[in-house]
Amino acid sequence: MDAAFRSDIGALLEQVGAGKESLSFMKRRIRRMAAQWASAARRLDDKLRDHRREQKRILVHVGFLTEESGDVFSPKVLKGGPLGEMVQWADILTALHVLGHDLKISVSLKELHGFLGVPPGRGNCPLTGPLPFDLIYTDYHGLQQMKHHMGLSLRKHKCHIRVIDTFGTEPAYNHEEYATLHGYRTNWGYWNLRGQQYMTMFPHTPDNSFMGFVAEELNETERLNIQRNKVNNMAVVYGKDASMWKVSGKEKFLAILHRYMEIHGTVYYEAQRPPEVPAFVKNHGLLPQQELQQLLRKAKLFIGFGFPYEGPAPLEAIANGCIFLQPKFNPSHSSLNHDFFRGKPTSRKVSSQHPYAEQYIGRPHVITIDFNNSEEFESTVREIMRMNVKPFLPYEYTCEGMLERVHAYIQNQDFCRPEAPFPPVNSSWLGDAPGPFVLPPDSSILAWGANASSYAPWPPLSALRLLASPEGQSCVRACRRAGLVCEPALYRFINIREAFSALDLQCDGLESEMNHLFPAFSAEHAECGLQRDPLLFSCAGSSGRYRRLCPCRDYRVGQVALCRDCL
Ligand code: UDP
Repeated sequence: MDAAFRSDIGALLEQVGAGKESLSFMKRRIRRMAAQWASAARRLDDKLRDHRREQKRILVHVGFLTEESGDVFSPKVLKGGPLGEMVQWADILTALHVLGHDLKISVSLKELHGFLGVPPGRGNCPLTGPLPFDLIYTDYHGLQQMKHHMGLSLRKHKCHIRVIDTFGTEPAYNHEEYATLHGYRTNWGYWNLRGQQYMTMFPHTPDNSFMGFVAEELNETERLNIQRNKVNNMAVVYGKDASMWKVSGKEKFLAILHRYMEIHGTVYYEAQRPPEVPAFVKNHGLLPQQELQQLLRKAKLFIGFGFPYEGPAPLEAIANGCIFLQPKFNPSHSSLNHDFFRGKPTSRKVSSQHPYAEQYIGRPHVITIDFNNSEEFESTVREIMRMNVKPFLPYEYTCEGMLERVHAYIQNQDFCRPEAPFPPVNSSWLGDAPGPFVLPPDSSILAWGANASSYAPWPPLSALRLLASPEGQSCVRACRRAGLVCEPALYRFINIREAFSALDLQCDGLESEMNHLFPAFSAEHAECGLQRDPLLFSCAGSSGRYRRLCPCRDYRVGQVALCRDCL
């Protein structure tokens, strides 16, 4: 059956249910954004006119909201706890509903059992019979619950699962045996899923799929009004919990900022005990999202102190015409050196409070500096007061952008299909053009891919550009430096001897090994290493000993998840 876009959110609101503050927060958001989703759906419907969109049966099981996982979030919703997750789940639910899929929502084990057809009271019985869903979106808590309650059948059905995973999971941590042998075991990883089954909040690493969320868009009148009404000396501090303000040295830069600007905060407090923020801060308390937007429309500057990491608020501020000023981290924060990331299944290096804002948006909307340098800090504040900046929202964070991306994933990502075998060994498809290599249209690998149509990858092979990273550089970085993005789905097509020779890397020896850096070339020994286990294909990871082979691809401006031919 084909899916038809929906513009009415009534049925969705009913499905979300009630009784928890977290659900009320999500419903308020869904209601507030309904008109934006509806007009985005109309535009995308026009754009996708010639595409068939199959309706999928989808279960969304929000594990962290279940009582059984402790539901630590709901009580914090009104107290400044992490709202980013709630924002993302509300937007995922809305996107799936608007795209016209057959959606079921579960926020308890009882509902999960009901939807999966597990008999009551027989929780850990394996699910017999077919899975009644094409796709299941859940989180790490939900995955654990499904393992417990579906028993062995989870393994059989796991290709249908997508894990919403804020900060991302790298392949080395996801592979149970490899993680255990090589010290990548954490509390979260080792589920042996395909890396792109994990879906992140920002495009952190191409090893995972970028799910994202949306921020409000403005119409032309609103834009003009905002620009007219900006208060040049008004700053809002990022951080709605008092603990987020406890940053060493903050007194110094707050004092400097206060010399030039009126400082506002939205820090949660209880009537009896106001939060510990300096007296000169105009604290509004935690605001409803809509009122926060109003505050951001007036403010010129949105300033981060280094925590929380990678949340939605800076995008909302930039969308409302603020300049986001944030600290650069030197050295970068990661699971190796910072408590917050310790135990998370990634060794990604976080170069500032909000690397997406730093790397994908940048000046004039985002300014990233060393906050320890008081002179630089002061001159930047002065510069910001003089700057004139328009509201900006990257396409991938608009409703249309999110619908387009989720549509493309749902219709094209298929982790249940048997994987393509490795390509024919004698393929001479790489030619001898200087890198990054473009596949000639008559190349045997394209013909092979087209013949084995059930294996034709997505993104298509036509998007592939091959290159070798310098020693010590990951494929994430090497592709980015070439103006491209690493594409793990295309690794298996470059995991061949010919890929080395095409890049003029002469192999004295050729081995095949389980190593998340492979395929790679060791210059010291002129050894070429092929990857033995497709689950370990990884864009992340580097070593001074290796030049890695990288399958890069092009991308759409403003929609990094999709290649040009990906729709
Ligand atoms: N937010 C809010 N009221 C406030 C401050 C923030 O509703 O006073 C919302 C904000 O609109 C954003 C969400 O909280 O969408 C999460 O923001 P943040 O970037 O702080 O991420 P978190 O750390 O909560 O995940």
